Amino acid sequence: MTWPLLLRSPANQDPSPAVQQRLTDHYQRIYRRTDRMFAVLMALQWIGGIVIAYYVSPHTWIGATSQVHPHLWMAIVGGGVLAALPIAMAIFHSGQLPTRVVIACSQVLFSSLLIHLAGGRIETHFHVFGSLAFLAAYRDPLVLLPATLIVAADHLIRGVFWPESVFGVTTATEWRWLEHAGWVIFEDIVLLIIILESRREMLELARHTVQLEEREDELELAIDAAEQANRTKSKFLANMSHEIRTPLNGILGFTDVLLRDRDSISPQEVDENLNIIRRSGHHLLSLINDVLDLSKIEADKLQVESIACSPHQIISDAVSVLRVGATEKGVGLHYRWDGHIPETIHTDPYRLKQLLLNLIGNAIKFTQQGSIVVVARVERKHAQPLLAVEVRDTGIGIPAAKLEEIFRPFVQADDSVTRKFGGTGLGLAIGRQIAEALGGSLTVTSTVGKGSTFVARIATGSLDGVATYDQPPQLVGGDVRESNPTACDLTGMNVLVVDDGDTNRKLIRLLLERAGAKVRLAENGQVAVDLATQASFDVVLMDMQMPVLDGYSATARIRERGFTGPVVALTAHAMKGDREKCELAGCTDYLSKPVEAGELYALLSKYIATQAGTTTNLPTEIRSMLPTDDTEIREIVEEFLDTLEVKTIEMQQAWDAGDLDALADLAHWLRGAGGTVGFACFSNPASELEDCAKQGHRANASAPLQTICELRERVVL
Ligand code: ADP
Repeated sequence: MTWPLLLRSPANQDPSPAVQQRLTDHYQRIYRRTDRMFAVLMALQWIGGIVIAYYVSPHTWIGATSQVHPHLWMAIVGGGVLAALPIAMAIFHSGQLPTRVVIACSQVLFSSLLIHLAGGRIETHFHVFGSLAFLAAYRDPLVLLPATLIVAADHLIRGVFWPESVFGVTTATEWRWLEHAGWVIFEDIVLLIIILESRREMLELARHTVQLEEREDELELAIDAAEQANRTKSKFLANMSHEIRTPLNGILGFTDVLLRDRDSISPQEVDENLNIIRRSGHHLLSLINDVLDLSKIEADKLQVESIACSPHQIISDAVSVLRVGATEKGVGLHYRWDGHIPETIHTDPYRLKQLLLNLIGNAIKFTQQGSIVVVARVERKHAQPLLAVEVRDTGIGIPAAKLEEIFRPFVQADDSVTRKFGGTGLGLAIGRQIAEALGGSLTVTSTVGKGSTFVARIATGSLDGVATYDQPPQLVGGDVRESNPTACDLTGMNVLVVDDGDTNRKLIRLLLERAGAKVRLAENGQVAVDLATQASFDVVLMDMQMPVLDGYSATARIRERGFTGPVVALTAHAMKGDREKCELAGCTDYLSKPVEAGELYALLSKYIATQAGTTTNLPTEIRSMLPTDDTEIREIVEEFLDTLEVKTIEMQQAWDAGDLDALADLAHWLRGAGGTVGFACFSNPASELEDCAKQGHRANASAPLQTICELRERVVL
């Protein structure tokens, strides 16, 4: 019904569909109600007409003579006809426009009839005004039009041909009908103003009601969301406290045992207990990292890097870290490639490994028997090539209804899972965000009782010109955490350790002094600046968040005072954003806290290698970590060593000629190729050399180049 809206005031144009609907409903109710009132009125008027014809007519038309007046028949028949149609329409077509129009016409025709029956008495003319006012109850200006036209026409025609019938006189002036019509139009105007005002108010009312309803809906949604969030939070807290308590029990319990019974237990038991404490600490650390990641994801601050790295190395690392757990559980863990293996891809190796650790870790966690297979392949059917890593298990599976939900934070397929297997329900939520941030996706298919297959896809960057293998070289070793942390000699190295945490300072000093370094401690940035001015250090390990003077300002001041040696930032979470901030302050490297002995030694041995005169402390020969007793692998390593010989000469030539582009290319090659053939020692200096060359810092490129040359002297088959 568009008609009611045609008359809305300009200020209220374009009401929303919801407002229009509400208004239309409201008008419909008014129309139907008024139809019903008129149906009753019509019946009453019919009876009223008969009464008038019976009592009044005989005393009007022919003086005081009384007889059964013919008007009585007119009242009965004419009134009946006039009332019948509108009553029928009000019953059968209530609320429709034709019904209103018929009612309006009948109503004023009733006025004419009554005026006629009353012998044109002027008092009866008031019925016309009453009828129009009553019709205004429709709040529809349209009904006034036919009513007014009928009144005017009736007065005009009867005034000319039968003035007694309408004015009660035998002769009436020619324009008397116009005067009557004029008064009717005057009433129309007044009624029109009232109707339009009433319509405007109804529109406003509809708007407010709709707004109120919308607010109510929003409020209900907000209450639902708040209740859901509250339930999730409580569940999360319960999960977290379970997850934190378990390793904490291990740490506290075994520390107590060591403190109390250290003299009575065997060295082997001491080692076992310490390993449990270490593993529990790692577990807590990964939990905290997950929560931090999630808060970063929720704040849209997850940043990823894109650097050249070996996909085979990353997957192998993740598999080898978790192999122990799988073996302990008696579950097989296999890893293979479908098709060619690119030597390098461009992605964020840290995040990719994190994603794979979660998927493979889950597969082991939820598989009691059978095996887990990790299959990697490059998919070229998409707009850009993708690396797809499939993790298939033969575990408990996931119900179809939960397949999407498990990617939401804190959601687990089955609440009893936490009690049985542990976990917080964060890993997959983070994993999917990581996969998407790396230009891909994370999907799952599963059958309850048979197993699940998770597929992580990530963009590889352009693979044009990237070398490929047919078979993955079998890598040994694995996560740096598994490496022997004592295999490092830092004799003679002067290290300044800056950290506000007493335990951290003590721990790092212990690790460094064991490796032969000389250590000075500073508890905040200001003390560090003072010490760095008084004494000379080979390396500064700098915590970034400290009271008095933080690590950023302290590094900047140390640099201002002429310190050119390496400053290693100790950051809680070595993310891209943090790194840039540290770099700006003048840091040269990063270590994530808590500091791992292996990582610390690996980093510092890089510096010791660059120090003249200290290389004698290092083992003279460096061998590939690949199993070179395998003839094919041996050939690959041999080939690398030959190429390395040529490439290092080319690097020196490029540096001499100042050809930094060529130098960057050569360093890039070494960065990828060195690690792949088991000489990880080249990765850091090659990466540093590439960065210096790309940034046009020829002078800075000299130190890593020298390191590479020295390392090359020491590599053997
Ligand atoms: P968590 O493992 O810490 O609970 P995740 O986000 O990694 O958190 O996993 C969420 C849920 O998805 C798990 O609790 C489990 O119910 C389900 N799930 C994940 N991986 C597997 C799998 N390989 N097999 C069966 N269920 C799985």
